[in-house]
Amino acid sequence: MFMIFALNEMAEEVDRIDDVATERSADASLRAFLKRLREIHGDYAVWDDAATKLYGEIDKEFAFGNFKDATRSGVFFDAAYLLDENGQTVFSFRRGGLAPRGALEEFGSPLQALVTGLAGQYRAFDSKVGVMRDRSGAISAVAVGSIFPASAAVPRPVGRPRMLVLAHVLDDLSIRQMGQDFVIDGIALSFDPNRTGQGVRLIDPTGKPIGALTWAQSNHGSKAFSRVAPTAYITLAVIGLTILFLLGIGYANLVAVRRRERQAVYDANHDSLTGLPNRAALTRALEEAVRRQPPQPLAVLFLDLDGFKEVNDSYGHEIGDRLLQEVARGFESICARRGLLARVGGDEFALVLDNRDAVVAAEEIGSRLVRYLDSPIVLDDRVIVIGTSVGIAVVEEEGVTADELLRRADVAMYQAKELGRSRVALYDRSIDAEKIDRKRLASELREALKSDALHVVYQPIFEAQTMRPVQVEALLRWPHPQEGMIPPDLFISVAEENGLMDAVGNWVLRNACRDALNWPDIRLAINVSPVQFRNPGFDRNLAAILAETGLPAERLEVEMTETHLVTFPDRAQHIVASLRVLGVSVALDDFGTGYSSIGYLRRFSFDKLKIDRSLVHGVSVDLETRRLCEATIALGLALNLEVTAEGIESEADAEIMRQAGCSYLQGFAFARPMPAAAITELLEDRGDDAGTGEALRTA
Ligand code: C2E
Ligand code: MG
Ligand code: MG
Repeated sequence: MFMIFALNEMAEEVDRIDDVATERSADASLRAFLKRLREIHGDYAVWDDAATKLYGEIDKEFAFGNFKDATRSGVFFDAAYLLDENGQTVFSFRRGGLAPRGALEEFGSPLQALVTGLAGQYRAFDSKVGVMRDRSGAISAVAVGSIFPASAAVPRPVGRPRMLVLAHVLDDLSIRQMGQDFVIDGIALSFDPNRTGQGVRLIDPTGKPIGALTWAQSNHGSKAFSRVAPTAYITLAVIGLTILFLLGIGYANLVAVRRRERQAVYDANHDSLTGLPNRAALTRALEEAVRRQPPQPLAVLFLDLDGFKEVNDSYGHEIGDRLLQEVARGFESICARRGLLARVGGDEFALVLDNRDAVVAAEEIGSRLVRYLDSPIVLDDRVIVIGTSVGIAVVEEEGVTADELLRRADVAMYQAKELGRSRVALYDRSIDAEKIDRKRLASELREALKSDALHVVYQPIFEAQTMRPVQVEALLRWPHPQEGMIPPDLFISVAEENGLMDAVGNWVLRNACRDALNWPDIRLAINVSPVQFRNPGFDRNLAAILAETGLPAERLEVEMTETHLVTFPDRAQHIVASLRVLGVSVALDDFGTGYSSIGYLRRFSFDKLKIDRSLVHGVSVDLETRRLCEATIALGLALNLEVTAEGIESEADAEIMRQAGCSYLQGFAFARPMPAAAITELLEDRGDDAGTGEALRTA
């Protein structure tokens, strides 16, 4: 806007300057007009012929030829008068004819004033000029001066000379000519003597204003302005738009930055897969809740999906991700607005409840969350069965930190898993102690593995009919420096929970295979944890160890527990098949404790069933147990499987099992697990002692 204002100011100034210049030009053009008339007057008045022929009796022919004719064209003048020594008119011509009046009658006092001005100082070129009105009101430039000879050849008049008056009317043509010569646009004659405003005032010789020379109001500046105005406006608009654009970009950037900031804050607090708040957001909410004064009831639920990892492994991460999204949605609908639900890890969720009934609500919501997964989730055409184990921790004493609360809920969640999954467990200190023990145990186990502090013992398995030892089962031992012998049932699960199982399992495999090389006629049974089977490279890994140690595959038998089989039938089937391709046989361990149906057994091509010792226990004293054992053995036989009975503690047990059709027997009644050296010894002696289990028992 300032620019337009400045331009306008400039235009006005240009106009003002232009007006002044035009005024000067107009003034100059009038002067030039008068000067020219005066020069013309000189040409005609200071002339030897005129000085001769216009004094006394004038030469009419001369007068007509030179003056009357000249007024016709009007180029130099359009009226010519001759005044005699007394001021009387001698001739008057106007526009090629005789003028109706004499000069003084025509022009009156203004002309008289000029004539008077000449008085007393007559000479050549004494003419005076002025502008004046004639009787008709027209304005003429008028020159009057003495007639004198130009040369000395003609005698100069004595006394008062005769006067030549030449008039040139300021008509349109002459005005236009003035305009052209002096480049004045729209020059015109105004007859208004009182005209104000711009213009060159015409004053007659008496000092009376008679009109003005005017011209078109100069507006070069304004014109320039109006010429440049669009450009200026466009420029301004462009500048304005550019500024707007820049402001727009700036604003857009600001908005984008804000949005990115908001997004970053959102991202920092949310889990990208499920859109739920993440662990950081949960911890913050929990910290706030813990600090609140006065303290409020507060409960934390920690959820871990049961069987999720297996879904992920068997169906791939895409299905795994979708499952998590689905579960998150389901959980959210249950917890909706009652607390903060967050995804805190792969398949882990947590819920913070901090309202008045938080502690009571925790258990109720916990079991609803468990029940939600009772029904399978359908993704595409897959029916996925998973569960969730929920641990709950509530604030019981002051000063519990957010981390501690979350940890307690986590401990309780593990308890829920140990109690059989898909259930809710409340945190109590005793589990925590056990849990802490397990963590400590895990790190000690890691150390033990590194320092070769583990060892393998072997329990012989006998052919039921001949009681010849035909196989040994490798059983892992961990003699703990402080705790004494730690049972494998305990530390194997610690290894499984802490990612040590593959290392432990391979260690057993390698050592047992190596030991077994000393017992050429004996087969080796190895227990393999479900965690090891889950590793897709398990069969390759096993083949490598066989190759490395040189144990023929046919001499190895892998014991698989029912748990793995039931949870992942497809994968178990696959692994059994691939082991059999290697030449390794597969036994189903702990049979009778789990849920394997005949259908399952048919589907898998096991070589052997091992009836669990819990089933065998009391077989010789309890009839019902006996029936159950007999039926189980019959089932195995019907499926064309060899059956081993483990946990045989007496000859009576052995006899019943033998009768029921068991092919192999294993138990303290015949041999306890023993070091490799003892097995070597046993085998050397076997010829003598075969059949007498007593002799084989070791401490
Ligand atoms: P399991 O595979 O069923 O092993 C047989 C268990 O029964 C052994 O217990 C053995 O000492 C015990 N046992 C044998 N005869 C009798 C008997 O007459 N009476 C009684 N009461 N028990 C008997 P152990 O060595 O404590 O092993 C327990 C479980 O730990 C094993 O059960 C097996 O599942 C697991 N385990 C042992 N070593 C390994 C290993 O290297 N890898 C894996 N994955 N698991 C192992
Ligand atoms: Mg076993
Ligand atoms: Mg067993």
